[in-house]
Amino acid sequence: MTDQAGIEKGNISISTENIFPIIKKWLYSDKDIFLRELVSNAIDAINKLQHINVVEQLKLLDDYGVDITVDKDQGTLTVKDNGIGMTADEVRRYINQVAFSSAEEFVQKFKNLEDASQIIGHFGLGFYSTFMVANKVEIRTLSYQDGAKGVHWSCDGSTAYELEETGKKDRGTEIILYLADDEKEFLDPVKIREILKKYCNFLPHPIRLAGDQVNDRNPLWAKTPSEVSVEDYKTFYTKLYPFAEEPLFWIHLNIDFPFNLKGILYFPKLNTEFDVSKSHIKLFCNQVFVTDNCPELIPEFLTPLQGCIDAPDLPLNVSRSYLQNEPQVRKIREVVAGRVASKVNELAKGDQEVYAKIWDDIHTFVKYGMIRDDKFHDKVKDQIIFRVAGGQTYTTLPEYLHRAAASHENKVFYSNDEAAQSTYLKLFQKQEMEVLVLDALIDSHFIQHLEMKNPDVTFKRVDSELTENLIEAGEEKKIITGPDQKSDDERIEAIFKEALVEKSHQVKVQGLKDESVPAVILLPEENRRMQELTRLMGAKDVDLFKDSTFLVNAANPLVKNLVRIDQAGKKEEVRLLIDQIYDLAYLSHKSFDKKRMEAFLERSNKVLELLSREIDE
Ligand code: ADP
Repeated sequence: MTDQAGIEKGNISISTENIFPIIKKWLYSDKDIFLRELVSNAIDAINKLQHINVVEQLKLLDDYGVDITVDKDQGTLTVKDNGIGMTADEVRRYINQVAFSSAEEFVQKFKNLEDASQIIGHFGLGFYSTFMVANKVEIRTLSYQDGAKGVHWSCDGSTAYELEETGKKDRGTEIILYLADDEKEFLDPVKIREILKKYCNFLPHPIRLAGDQVNDRNPLWAKTPSEVSVEDYKTFYTKLYPFAEEPLFWIHLNIDFPFNLKGILYFPKLNTEFDVSKSHIKLFCNQVFVTDNCPELIPEFLTPLQGCIDAPDLPLNVSRSYLQNEPQVRKIREVVAGRVASKVNELAKGDQEVYAKIWDDIHTFVKYGMIRDDKFHDKVKDQIIFRVAGGQTYTTLPEYLHRAAASHENKVFYSNDEAAQSTYLKLFQKQEMEVLVLDALIDSHFIQHLEMKNPDVTFKRVDSELTENLIEAGEEKKIITGPDQKSDDERIEAIFKEALVEKSHQVKVQGLKDESVPAVILLPEENRRMQELTRLMGAKDVDLFKDSTFLVNAANPLVKNLVRIDQAGKKEEVRLLIDQIYDLAYLSHKSFDKKRMEAFLERSNKVLELLSREIDE
């Protein structure tokens, strides 16, 4: 219907009742995106014109761009482009008939969804999101088509609109928002710039705020990897994460088939402030920022990856639960895992020292990935390295097993606490037996994973058993002498059995090649693992020393002396020394509580006093 002044008045056609309140509800937490939608439309309009320019050979040379201005006096925010523009008919079709626009589709899809965070970036809400901040919106537009006339459209947020001809001279579209009273913050250029930086920073045409270009038109991920230098990657990283340390490595994704995917992923140098449980990837769609909360895109074990993914074909106006199971998203996760695996291989083949350093930062994720993802396991299994206890040398499992073949075939000895287990490590090191350090939180699981994948191989913690190589072969100590018709080993065993307060151990006497250690406690590997598991499951009073062995070293001078001290009837001294030997062995497994510490210190002083008397004599 057109009135006398030539103004067409009509109703916006919508099939969903109350579309505006519903949009409002969704946008409540994410209002800023109206600007992203307007600028995206403007960029689309320019892209379309460029396309037509080529196809129809219009030779429209132009300085394409989008201009954003605010007018504080009028209370308006304007987004102006020099793109394709719209004729009156097109305005009727694309704007008035919301039923055909994405806003309607969006509302249909999500009207029953209670949790707005389930929607990815509120994508596809389109032009009508403006009504979240404006109580009146005007469009002034002029189509590129020959003889087109300027069109002015306005709407106050109800379903009624007005449309009239206007004298707009320059091709393109201007969207003017009359901001609502409580949305005046969008008149603040600082705020607008911040939003543009967030959502529009990498758009392909100049975006200007009051004449100043805010965006970087050529994001690095859009380039071919061969054009990009190491410095470029580092600079881009600093742009994305200004305060972060230099990344450990990066991956440039540039995939055209079977879907479009571009992006650069960085593995950050992790520090204590880094949140490894949160997704850090910025998701873009044709260079428009969508969200930095899209954990679905990255395999869970690679959550710390940072950087950008531009996935123009992703269905973004869907909910998260849908996205999680979307085949293309699953494929993206696989691609990312595969590329990270290749990168690990590449690094492992390079400088060994550099790899060992990087390994310290990435091993937890690689191990977790191997446990979680069989394909990933297969791809990186040969690049797993282990530090050898007592130094900074690294080895692979096959190398270790090869060297160990003669002395302890298919057995891997490891330490999960070099300091606490130093007594045991010394025993091994003296016999030149290598022990691997597996002291990360994930390692107890990883050991089980490796055993599952290599059924012949077993892992034994250094304090679980002593191999033949550590034990003195000589049998002479077994010789029976004296009136009691016992061997020295039997005497030692009897003395210890009697004096030892802790009775849960089995007492065993053996001569070790290294004579310096009087005794150690051995916890069988399987038992210990079982206990760790039950403790993990919440059991409180698990007896650490169940089924353990208290191994007394018959080759140790102190132990040898004990036989004579005992034979001299000095029961109290024997008790004192055995308690002390026991506590020293105990310390490798558990720290002392207050009472035990006090007793230990008191006893240590007594031992020293005895020693000083000896020296004095
Ligand atoms: P969508 O962009 O998802 O299609 P919108 O509601 O944002 O949905 O826009 C509807 C339509 O209006 C667009 O598809 C386009 O044809 C037209 N349009 C919107 N903004 C512009 C613009 N700045 N220049 C030209 N056409 C536009």
